[in-house]
Amino acid sequence: MTDVTQEQILEALKSVKDPSCNEDIVSLGMIQGLQLKEGHVGFAIEVDPERGPSLEPLRKEAEQAVHALPGILTVTAVLTAQKAAGGDDHSGHNHDHGHDHGHSHGQPAAEQPLLPDVKSIVAVASGKGGVGKSTTSVNLALGFASQGLKVGLLDADIYGPSIPRMLGVAGTDPESADGKMLEPIKSCGIKCMSIGFLVEEDSPMIWRGPMVMSALEQLMRDVNWGELDILVVDMPPGTGDAQLTMAQRVPLTGAVIVSTPQDIALLDARKGLNMFRKTEVPVLGIIENMSYFSCPHCGERTEIFSHGGAKKTAAQLGADFLGEIPLDMAIREKADAGDPIVASVPDGDHAKAYKAIAAKVWEKVETLTESAGPGLKIVVD
Ligand code: ADP
Repeated sequence: MTDVTQEQILEALKSVKDPSCNEDIVSLGMIQGLQLKEGHVGFAIEVDPERGPSLEPLRKEAEQAVHALPGILTVTAVLTAQKAAGGDDHSGHNHDHGHDHGHSHGQPAAEQPLLPDVKSIVAVASGKGGVGKSTTSVNLALGFASQGLKVGLLDADIYGPSIPRMLGVAGTDPESADGKMLEPIKSCGIKCMSIGFLVEEDSPMIWRGPMVMSALEQLMRDVNWGELDILVVDMPPGTGDAQLTMAQRVPLTGAVIVSTPQDIALLDARKGLNMFRKTEVPVLGIIENMSYFSCPHCGERTEIFSHGGAKKTAAQLGADFLGEIPLDMAIREKADAGDPIVASVPDGDHAKAYKAIAAKVWEKVETLTESAGPGLKIVVD
């Protein structure tokens, strides 16, 4: 474990200068989506797409600057190109990528239908890492499948793709019959695809230029998802510009926010909520994870963190409270062993809790897709 803070990381990054103007990359606002988790650091450096390839040395220098801090285990920096060249506008008016329309902004390939046979797409998001977002995504996806739905799970967590491991399929190479379309991996009755299948989980990702965004698009466009009732997207944690852009790039039906009770107090979930509201993606509700501790020996319930924060916050913010999941050894062990609890103990209390949340989410999704008319039109600019 390291005591290094986000501020110290940014301070270290200030030593890295953009060669084109000799100003540091932090002051220039180029650092996005900084994540720090148990000594592992990830962030994106936003650059003009045309400069992408020439900035590889800068990317490396940034990684090294952070790596030099005490206790840092790995550093993953990726170059992203999401701003309009020369622009720094995040106010939204050049981000007009709605999920039900498809205007071209002078870009080629407007009006390309993505995922034509996918009826709905739901993002699972969190204000920060480590709150159990991926665990929740997997178990929710299995909860949908237990209702008889056709389910896909897209792991878009570019900072730490953990879905292959949680579904017990890490190290599997997706096959491609025609050399173009990838076949999703099937596990526990759901189809899944992850950035982690394309990149080793513990090897640093080196995606240059605009590759991060196009990787996500590729995972939607070049994967043979086939007919799905619902595609669950495990989003990267955080509420920064990288996440915002991603939320705009995926034609979402709605989003659910996962939070722990203590993060609710820190307002992380609120930020998540605001992010989706900014993008006009309906927020389907908040799930409180690690809500209370359930003792594996006696079953006693202990409310370690002032339990119930999510319910209160949800009410205050006009979002729905979808349910709570306890902090329980079995959930962690099953997730980390690649045998998620909804699949391995389908009649247990935890599976029931996930399934009840899945049922609530599905009800909302159905209402939303019905009101959007038959065949939700999914278009990406
Ligand atoms: P995130 O995707 O938000 O970074 P993960 O889903 O990877 O978080 O969870 C982080 C760790 O916490 C994992 O080891 C996971 O097994 C564990 N975990 C998640 N939810 C629970 C829970 N309800 N009870 C116990 N452990 C949990």
